[in-house]
Amino acid sequence: MQFNHDNMTGPLLAADLVNLAGGGAWTAQEARTVMDRHHIRRSALTSSSSKQLKQWSLRLRSAFEPGGVEARCAAINALLDAGASRAYLTSHDQLRPHLHFASDDDAVVARVKAVTAGGLAIFAVESDGGRLGVCARAGCDTAFVDTSRNGLRAYCSARCGNNDAVQRHREGASKSKA
Ligand SMILES: [Zn+2]
Ligand SMILES: [Zn+2]
Repeated sequence: MQFNHDNMTGPLLAADLVNLAGGGAWTAQEARTVMDRHHIRRSALTSSSSKQLKQWSLRLRSAFEPGGVEARCAAINALLDAGASRAYLTSHDQLRPHLHFASDDDAVVARVKAVTAGGLAIFAVESDGGRLGVCARAGCDTAFVDTSRNGLRAYCSARCGNNDAVQRHREGASKSKA
């Protein structure tokens, strides 16, 4: 599959918000930093919109959890239902026609809901329901979008993959001694 700006903002922003909300360090300022990284405009949050966005971010985790294609589609459908009220084609900035799920005039939480739900849905179409995951290392709950060539990523980072390999090696070694 082809990874380009327009089909990746939704899932990458979703993963970052899930990890911020899950990590216990949520503040309006941190959330804003995440949104700015993904070029969400007018991203200032009041304390009540920050709370709403955190609630939404906790919900987004459902799209990354393991459980198979059907469960993932159901999770994303629920997000679409709650977050994307309309869909329309646009070709702003000389881009090829693509779908937007919120009006530019909407408030920031509505726009982020729409971008994440709509983006995850488009991504799921292109990825055959795969390439969204949660780190396989025990104790690490980090959500990720798998943009690797083969789409078989199991860990959020090389570090988690290495730690897990060392751990399994140790467990294997202690079992064979017993
Ligand atoms: Zn666009
Ligand atoms: Zn990890």
